[in-house]
Amino acid sequence: MPEQASDLIAPKATRYRGRFAPSPTGDLHAGSLLAAFGSWLLARHAGGEWLVRIEDLDPPREVAGAAHRQLAALEAFGLISDGPVVWQSTRSHLYQEALDRLLAEGLAFECHCSRTDLAAVHGIHRSCVARSSRPDPAVRLRVPDGSVLAFDDAIQGRVEQDVAQEVGDFVLRRADGFWAYQLAVVVDDAAQGITDVVRGADLLDSTPRQILLQRALGLPTPRYAHLPLVLGPDGRKLSKSDASQPVDPGDPLPALRAAWARLGQAPSALADATGPADLLERALRAFDPAAIRAADPHETSSLLRMIAD
Ligand code: GLU
Repeated sequence: MPEQASDLIAPKATRYRGRFAPSPTGDLHAGSLLAAFGSWLLARHAGGEWLVRIEDLDPPREVAGAAHRQLAALEAFGLISDGPVVWQSTRSHLYQEALDRLLAEGLAFECHCSRTDLAAVHGIHRSCVARSSRPDPAVRLRVPDGSVLAFDDAIQGRVEQDVAQEVGDFVLRRADGFWAYQLAVVVDDAAQGITDVVRGADLLDSTPRQILLQRALGLPTPRYAHLPLVLGPDGRKLSKSDASQPVDPGDPLPALRAAWARLGQAPSALADATGPADLLERALRAFDPAAIRAADPHETSSLLRMIAD
């Protein structure tokens, strides 16, 4: 059989491309620095690129000036995007295009249910129960019964979720007109060619939704690695308010050393670091991805089953 022209073209080696995608809801804190440093280390260790994307899609939760302060803090920590920083607020056309496709294919639908309507079913949407139609319907992804999603997380192992039962039809565009994180993150990870999503374990239970959405849109699924959460000095999970205490960009070494230790790495490797650039160099030489430990299942969402092999 004659060879197809496409067979003669060697597939382009897909180079590792990671990212850090903060929401500008406050200053860079210990949890976000851990995600930034962890994703940077894994990308650099793989000889790949690392991009920064500002997820500024939720104006009501945004803090004025936070995005620029986060970027300035990242710079002070020596963590600098390999390409132009992407701002989600400028990319509505991409989210609209994806939404239109899902609506046209009947995979998404307009929903007139109110919170009160859904309260009776614990907020899990399986079918519309709206008592009246609203001028500003949300748009949801239809999640068929039996949508059980399993994936292998590089750090947390096998993870499984029955998205239909435990999450239900989820929102893609909110009733207030803003884009939902789930839609935007999936569109942008694909548009930016992200091969590896590395982020905090607090987002583990969003991942099955994101994989469903990738499939509905015919987009590739990246590899996932969810880092352990930042713990308090007593080893317990930090409260939301403690966890959002900003890190000090004026004194970057202690916060980088704390994140390094939380990533399971040997503290001695960074003991003699003289500044952030020197610390990052030493970190990269000593970094052992296998030393990153899985989060305690109690730290992560109870909706997920983390399956021990
Ligand atoms: N913007 C999200 C957050 O700050 C993270 C998104 C992601 O890494 O997928 O929580």
